[in-house]
Amino acid sequence: MRSKILLYFFLIIIFFSCKKKDSTAVENITQVNNRISTPKILSEKPIQSFKLLGKFNYRNDTTFAKVPSSYSFKNIYVQKVVLDSFIKMTNAAEKEGVSFKIVSGTRNFDEQKRIWERKWKRNNTSDSVSNALQILKYSSMPSTSRHHWGTDIDLNNLNNSYFDKGKGLKEYNWLVNNAHKFGFFQPYTSKKSGRTGYNEEKWHWSFKPLSSHYLNVYNDSISYKDITGFVGSAVAKDIDVIKKYVKGIEY
Ligand SMILES: [Zn+2]
Repeated sequence: MRSKILLYFFLIIIFFSCKKKDSTAVENITQVNNRISTPKILSEKPIQSFKLLGKFNYRNDTTFAKVPSSYSFKNIYVQKVVLDSFIKMTNAAEKEGVSFKIVSGTRNFDEQKRIWERKWKRNNTSDSVSNALQILKYSSMPSTSRHHWGTDIDLNNLNNSYFDKGKGLKEYNWLVNNAHKFGFFQPYTSKKSGRTGYNEEKWHWSFKPLSSHYLNVYNDSISYKDITGFVGSAVAKDIDVIKKYVKGIEY
């Protein structure tokens, strides 16, 4: 009887020590997972195609927010997470005597179509491919713009020369050294590296935690049959706009 009690006693001790081990293991995994910054924003998957193509009204979309006038030049919207990170970034920059305002944020299909078709008419050339290539130096074809996604912003000035000296250079250097801490990167860098697509844009910054996700889904789900509904859309495939201009960026 005594040995039976001892046996039960040992079994109970073994049971609890195992339990303790398990709960410690679970605790460790939780701690590790908490340390990995898995952005909640990535759970949005799958992103609907019409959003990738800009065919929606971002002003009515609950994931978007209007940029307060103190941080922008006009009525500009971006995704809420992008705005939060941008505000943190410009507040940090202000402590070092640099500040940023958003010149342009989200543009949907209709807005990009107006820009595209205005430039198309202005170029007034009979060769559709060369007309499109001329516009594509700086402007996107509707449904191929990163500005549709609400992840990309243009800052302070739309001329590279502004960022080459004085105040502009100080701002640009600050972004190069610090923007990554807030999730932003410059997608359209110098083309000397062999990058295809648009010319360098020192003002255009992209919120990578979100844009990389959008680009992945775009690459998986969008094809030339989706690039339609504007003048000149027929040459999108000839120019290979998706490969050279959208996929020309890594994230
Ligand atoms: Zn831009």
